[in-house]
Amino acid sequence: METTVLKKIWLSPPHMGENEEAYVKEAFDSNWIAPLGPNVQYFESAIENFIGNDVHVACLSSGTAAIHLGLQLLGVGHGDEVICQSFTFAATVNPITYLGASPILIDSERETWNLSPSLVEKAIKERLAVGKKPKAIVAVHLYGMPYQIEEIHSIARKYEIPVLEDSAEALGSSYKGIRCGGFGDIGVLSFNGNKIITTSGGGAILCRYQSTKEKAVFLATQARDNAPHYQHSHIGYNYRMSNVLAGIGRGQMEVLEERVNARRSNFQYYKEQLSSISGISFLEEPDGIYSNRWLTCVLTPSFKIRETLRQALENENIESRPLWKPMHLQPVFDKTIAYVNGVSEELFQKGLCLPSGSSLQEDDLERICNIVKSVLK
Ligand SMILES: *Cc1c(COP(=O)(O)O)cnc(C)c1O
Repeated sequence: METTVLKKIWLSPPHMGENEEAYVKEAFDSNWIAPLGPNVQYFESAIENFIGNDVHVACLSSGTAAIHLGLQLLGVGHGDEVICQSFTFAATVNPITYLGASPILIDSERETWNLSPSLVEKAIKERLAVGKKPKAIVAVHLYGMPYQIEEIHSIARKYEIPVLEDSAEALGSSYKGIRCGGFGDIGVLSFNGNKIITTSGGGAILCRYQSTKEKAVFLATQARDNAPHYQHSHIGYNYRMSNVLAGIGRGQMEVLEERVNARRSNFQYYKEQLSSISGISFLEEPDGIYSNRWLTCVLTPSFKIRETLRQALENENIESRPLWKPMHLQPVFDKTIAYVNGVSEELFQKGLCLPSGSSLQEDDLERICNIVKSVLK
């Protein structure tokens, strides 16, 4: 019997534009293979111009590295506590532990799926009452949906706690016309392979002040003092982005808005095709919020149906993925203090990320929707 292999549809594959290869070739032609060089500078200014709000950008080897350096620049150290969103990818939380600090995990609210402002405030009050003032708040724009910016930042101001804004999934999203990445005391971007734009691997730290950027670059390049020999007064890291990869990023910035539009159209297509099915729902944009719709997520009626749907897609060579498993449910964080309300656990049980790449074609989307319809009919 002949079997035909259906074309694989990935969750969120890389999508190169016109010029990435030329910029990488430029790096080769000029032998700017080693770290730093013109592509890094062009990439950084392109991000600065895009985000606006006077941010100062340093490109790094990953988003995780940016979170690690960012927390350190906000003064997080051994024995400190850091308020952190529980419903996220592990890379948001892990760097807190690299510094010898402990996360205080906070559940989500239903409107944006991000940090619950009331739980954040409750946690701060209770930690203050035992003499432990949290050193920082790590807030995430999950799946590209901005968190409750005004509420979270007003709590942060009230208690004078800095915010690290994990914008790894939200390049191109905005709140009241201000782009994500520009809200925190430190912002973070990721250019990992599945993000809205990619350098194969990479990230960036977004700083309010040029002096903070300079400190980030200093720490990211082994903390070399100003001397002809190798002289060190601080512990440093090897976290800078190479000029070759920055060439890819420079090209990707030229197509970023197209990529955002394509992902938003995917969302629209899914919503038009699927929202009439009873039991299926989508995360809507609250007033003033513009999401890059990095991944389109659907909520199904139950864990069982979600799994049936995921399997049915897999059988047809289509990659989908359950929503992030909250950090407070991860074995590695089972002894961590957590403020929980059941929201992220329910989202994890019932939610599925559908293929959302910017290179998806209409017949791909149709194929996916037909499977969803047949499972949920
Ligand atoms: C991808 C991601 C990161 C980490 O970025 P890397 O570049 O993969 O290290 C951090 N936080 C969130 C929410 C992410 O999705």
